[in-house]
Amino acid sequence: MNLSLQIFASLVLSVIVGLVLGEGAAAPVKTWIAPIGTMFINLIKMMIVPVVFCSLVVGMTSMGDMKKLGRIGIKTLSIYMVTTAIAIVIGFAVALAIDPGTGMSMAGATAPKVKEAPSIMQVFVDMIPSNPIASMAKADILPVIIFALFVGAGIISVGGKRAETLISFFDAFAEVCYKIIAMIMKTAPIGVFCLLLPVVVMNGPKVLLPLLSVIICMLIGCTIHAVCVYSAMTTVAAHMSPVTFFRGMSEAMAIAFTTCSSAGTLPVNMKNVQEKLGVHRDIASFVLPLGATINMDGTALYMGVCSIFIANVFGVPLTFDQMMMIVLTGTLASIGTAGVPGAGLIMLAMVLQSVGLPLEGLALVAGIDRVLDMFRTCLNITGDAAVAVVVNASEQEVPSDIQITE
Ligand code: ASP
Repeated sequence: MNLSLQIFASLVLSVIVGLVLGEGAAAPVKTWIAPIGTMFINLIKMMIVPVVFCSLVVGMTSMGDMKKLGRIGIKTLSIYMVTTAIAIVIGFAVALAIDPGTGMSMAGATAPKVKEAPSIMQVFVDMIPSNPIASMAKADILPVIIFALFVGAGIISVGGKRAETLISFFDAFAEVCYKIIAMIMKTAPIGVFCLLLPVVVMNGPKVLLPLLSVIICMLIGCTIHAVCVYSAMTTVAAHMSPVTFFRGMSEAMAIAFTTCSSAGTLPVNMKNVQEKLGVHRDIASFVLPLGATINMDGTALYMGVCSIFIANVFGVPLTFDQMMMIVLTGTLASIGTAGVPGAGLIMLAMVLQSVGLPLEGLALVAGIDRVLDMFRTCLNITGDAAVAVVVNASEQEVPSDIQITE
């Protein structure tokens, strides 16, 4: 069985075993199984900084000039913004059609304490690393990207023999990173099982059923966005069939689904996109780390769905102007959302506040947030990959020396 199938089988198995065991098994599962899942996530996380830094430096030096980087940057950011705004609109459309939360009451709910969202200016300030080693130690991807871009630019301007030595060092190191990621992925079926089992055991039917309509909205919304928007993008811009695209992405999608972390999935996404979708390294190494931190289509869609849900529960229908405000703040909020589990819930608070929706509504969503996070993270990283494929195709002169494997 190939790896993607094995991972899928372990996803299904963990759901079945989790449902059979039920909530009664929560304590032993938490003690004995969950830590194995954490070990697996840690192994992947171990590779984030080395792979992002080395491939970005190599990518930057092989781009050769700032003009190309600027062009790729503008293309990438524009597509990211547009797809994110579309995701919120799809979230609205699905939620308006299904109408989740109507007739539900909020008796006794109090707003859960959520950390305050950073301001947009603070996000920009935090992008500049005052200490790159500290940023690497904390795996803060945006400052690491900025530092890698400077190192790449420095190497280009040094030029000559000394630059070549450094480039081949980083190139070899990036290759080593990809080999290590491949080794780690061999354990993915076990890792995925151990990550998902505790979630299923602790979020049994009792927790999920009352909010099934919200989960269904997310499931349908994410599927529509992936199938319509990403398939159209990759087919039209890169002549890549949706089957090739989603098959190539299956490992990364499964890891995102179980880890709920775009940042944590980054090493696997970078590997998949290059090896299975034929994206050139200089594009993948720029577009994907940036996407893992600022492009969150799933999170944006979730904001659309949850604001309609909360408005329904409180019986305060949203006006068109309020919805437009949510598209704007939701797009900005998703840029500021960190690629870690649960970050979207914090940013949802900001979006609710922007249109005066009661924060108490968060209490309801918080109960099932882990499950919603699985869908949104999966869409988040798939969106990054779709944009990488499109940008790669638009930079046709970039020779691809990678074999596309089906
Ligand atoms: N967990 C999501 C991610 O890593 C972010 C979110 O909570 O929406 O992409």
